[in-house]
Amino acid sequence: MKLEVVTIGTELLLGQIIDTNAAELGRALAAAGAEVVRRSSVADRPEAIRAAVAEALERTGFVITTGGLGPTRDDMTKREVAALLGKTLELDAAVLRSLEERFRRLGRPMPAVNRTQAEVPAGATVLPNPRGTAPGLWVEDTRGRVVVMLPGVPSEMRGLLAEEVLPRLAARTSGAVVRSRTVRTTGIAESALAERVGAIEESIAPLTLAYLPSVEGVDLRVTAWGLRPDEADRSLTETTAQLRERAGEHWYGGDGADLAAVVLDQLRARQARLVVAESCTGGVLSARITAVPGASKVFIGGVVAYDNIVKSGTLDVPPELLDQYGAVSEPVVRAMAEGVQRQFAVDAALAITGVAGPTGGTADKPVGTVWFVARYGTEARALKRIFPGDRNEIRARSAQAALDLLRRLLADKP
Ligand code: ATP
Repeated sequence: MKLEVVTIGTELLLGQIIDTNAAELGRALAAAGAEVVRRSSVADRPEAIRAAVAEALERTGFVITTGGLGPTRDDMTKREVAALLGKTLELDAAVLRSLEERFRRLGRPMPAVNRTQAEVPAGATVLPNPRGTAPGLWVEDTRGRVVVMLPGVPSEMRGLLAEEVLPRLAARTSGAVVRSRTVRTTGIAESALAERVGAIEESIAPLTLAYLPSVEGVDLRVTAWGLRPDEADRSLTETTAQLRERAGEHWYGGDGADLAAVVLDQLRARQARLVVAESCTGGVLSARITAVPGASKVFIGGVVAYDNIVKSGTLDVPPELLDQYGAVSEPVVRAMAEGVQRQFAVDAALAITGVAGPTGGTADKPVGTVWFVARYGTEARALKRIFPGDRNEIRARSAQAALDLLRRLLADKP
């Protein structure tokens, strides 16, 4: 089934708050088999609310709104929707009782303004909201068109959606769902990955494929639309297996996979421990690693070797190498990795040195040039990359590339 979402709130248009309700509704409704075909945001103005809901209703016959339901907004959404559907507002005794009960529990008298909250469009289904004062409302007109009104406060919206709206929608969608799965890749550009994956789109239809690049790599997201749950799961399993195979050594996990966690698992399985030496990333790699719960079993720490004083003083990088090749060079990054591994006597080490910019680039070492070394035992692999992006992006891409270098070294050494 198709529907539209209208989020209400002047702050949304001014950019003072982000429209997380719309994003959350899109995700949850898709997973439940309802497709949001359009969404709009309007200010807290009666005529704007009425026009947006009227147009959306004209197109799809099913609209979900958030916001403008509470007394601070003068119950605007409720009034406008009632008028639009030609319904009067009537006092709902049950809502009034639960409001009075709520205020009694809080030990406060109920302000008169809250009484209007107990008014609902004639014939509306009241969706109880235990997390707030304004209940949700489900209103249907004589033509079978539906407007569902939810509060703007995200936690209240979420609760009502899960407990009241989705179960009612499930009854209308004949069990069809929209489901997605992700194949995460790194170390390969979107265009090169597209070449590897090839013209798969036709053979996987009605599933669709999206390329989603970020500083961590390119995610391949496959979506099954409007299938029964078992059919959707079967075709997603088949398609993601094909994509994993085509992505080859660049694939590192599925939905929500974190490359740092993948590498920690590889090391844990070998009872190996890891140390790092970071120059241009200044701790970004360590932060990625320590963000993973249980990292302390594997990760011992590292050295931020930013200035050459630390590279030579703490990591024993020979000053001649720094003079001859410069800090961003293969000999120096190799010496950093060897130095930190020797110093702390552990099995695995990663080292990074590069030019994060925006200044400091030269003709042969432009901004974004980064050298990496991964070591496991006595085996070492070096890699040079030239990354696009600003300083933060280059640092984030560097941490990811370092982790990937070690992942691949370990994968090749079972
Ligand atoms: P009340 O009037 O009782 O506060 P309400 O249903 O009228 O409730 P709004 O006043 O429109 O809701 O919004 C309440 C708060 O919820 C806002 O101040 C804002 O912080 C948050 N909010 C509203 N709409 C959204 C949205 N679309 N996405 C994220 N947060 C929102």
